[in-house]
Amino acid sequence: MLTIGPYCLDPLEFGRIRLDGGAMFGVVPRPLWQRTNPPDERNRIALALRGLLLRGEGKIIVVDAGVGDSMPAKQRELYAVEASHQQVLAELGRHGVAAEQVTHVLCTHLHFDHVAGFFRLDREGTIRPTFPSAVHFIGSEQLHHALEPTVRDRASYLRAELEALIQAVEVHLVKNEGELLPGLRVELCDGHTPGQLVPIVHSAERTLCYPSDLVPTTSHVRLAYTMGYDLWAQRLLEEKAGLLGRAADEGWLCCFEHDPVTPLTRIVRENDDFAIALDEELLALGKEWHPRT
Ligand SMILES: [Zn+2]
Repeated sequence: MLTIGPYCLDPLEFGRIRLDGGAMFGVVPRPLWQRTNPPDERNRIALALRGLLLRGEGKIIVVDAGVGDSMPAKQRELYAVEASHQQVLAELGRHGVAAEQVTHVLCTHLHFDHVAGFFRLDREGTIRPTFPSAVHFIGSEQLHHALEPTVRDRASYLRAELEALIQAVEVHLVKNEGELLPGLRVELCDGHTPGQLVPIVHSAERTLCYPSDLVPTTSHVRLAYTMGYDLWAQRLLEEKAGLLGRAADEGWLCCFEHDPVTPLTRIVRENDDFAIALDEELLALGKEWHPRT
């Protein structure tokens, strides 16, 4: 079991999605990325939809929720979505948590593959929040951007549903970096999308960061591996170098939202770049965190 400060942490496996390999690796040529991320016949690579569950001090916190079943059928086919609202509930149920018990949710950003699991549409098309009792932490700048996205990223937002969601739940808009709850702070970054939240769970002994789409998979730990989806690639590269530098120097754990194989590693410096490292403590966390070890 992984504990940090007051919290017990567990990964939440909300399903799978496939996105274009070229879009996921930007300027990196396919012969390099296909070694670690083999594409299918449509050039898509498998990605996890992995949230994070924090429990402690009377709080139950869910960070990101995958795509649920709020996506139109055409997009589900395009992205080979294997996820459902039921799976969100079942995954929490596996940890003995009912949706009504969740006290807080944190949306790292509002791209559909991170936020659509936080709601479903009923037969009448009315929005039904997955966690109706939870305070929803949402980045203020990200929300503004999501409601008026650019041509490049408007396909990543379900705008009508987002507008309905924020009317239906208690929203806490996050405007600044800092402590959200005891032992849980957020940092802000803009390279992937404006006002993205990076949650960091910390205690005197241990720190875990969840960089979400700032470093979506272990392959993206290499500095040059940035996504074509990133709005400002150079800014992202600088933000990533800053975060991973601290992670490496201070021995942080790093949880990867989209890595199809490896949910949790440490970071090490390697020449002028970064790499991942698994140590005995990580491997001892067992199947839950390292299903293939
Ligand atoms: Zn994103």
